[in-house]
Amino acid sequence: MPIRPSDKEEEYFARQQAELKRRLAEEARRKLEAEERERARQLHYMKCPKCGMDLQEIGFSDVRVDKCFSCGGLWLDEGELDRILDKEAGFLRRLRSIFS
Ligand SMILES: [Zn+2]
Repeated sequence: MPIRPSDKEEEYFARQQAELKRRLAEEARRKLEAEERERARQLHYMKCPKCGMDLQEIGFSDVRVDKCFSCGGLWLDEGELDRILDKEAGFLRRLRSIFS
């Protein structure tokens, strides 16, 4: 005669299955989010956030700015504003003169 699992055992295994499926669904969601982030990064990398055209990186002194020659926007990466602020007075004027 086969041994039937008790109600408590059945409940235990059902909970384990549910927990496993919840974990797998969470992993699938995280993977999809990471893929979407990567797709968005590839789609928008070095594109102007205002007009969507290509940005051109221009170096001046040790500051590198991303310039959009379509709409005229000028973009800074993390840390570049601090680097500009550390420069001597007149640096921004000299930087502006490059693009005018
Ligand atoms: Zn632009």
